[in-house]
Amino acid sequence: MGEREKDFRGSRHKGKGKAKESIVLCDCGLPAKKAQSWTDENPFRRFYGCERYKTPLDCRFFQWIDEGSPYGWQKRALLEARNNIRQKEETIMELKKNIAKFQSDWAENAEFEEDIINGFLKL
Ligand SMILES: [Zn+2]
Repeated sequence: MGEREKDFRGSRHKGKGKAKESIVLCDCGLPAKKAQSWTDENPFRRFYGCERYKTPLDCRFFQWIDEGSPYGWQKRALLEARNNIRQKEETIMELKKNIAKFQSDWAENAEFEEDIINGFLKL
């Protein structure tokens, strides 16, 4: 390990030290869940929400973790990154569909081959 790494490691454990994150309780008494906003207004901004949101018990608890909305070039960069991720996710979905199709085609072919082999064995 080089000197630099040692310094880096050391500085992570001493010094300021982030305050322990306290558990945020939602209005219905459950520990709030951390989530991330993906909206145009607040890309990547983290917030607390309730796991009962949009369930029959529908809890609307909401609290931002990150203070201040993103703005300026950072916001543009975040939106670009978000769109990039979405595009890649779509591509991955497409590829997964293709793989599933190839797999089922292959399985059909394999069955077909098995039929042929069985046919030969019966000869
Ligand atoms: Zn709740």
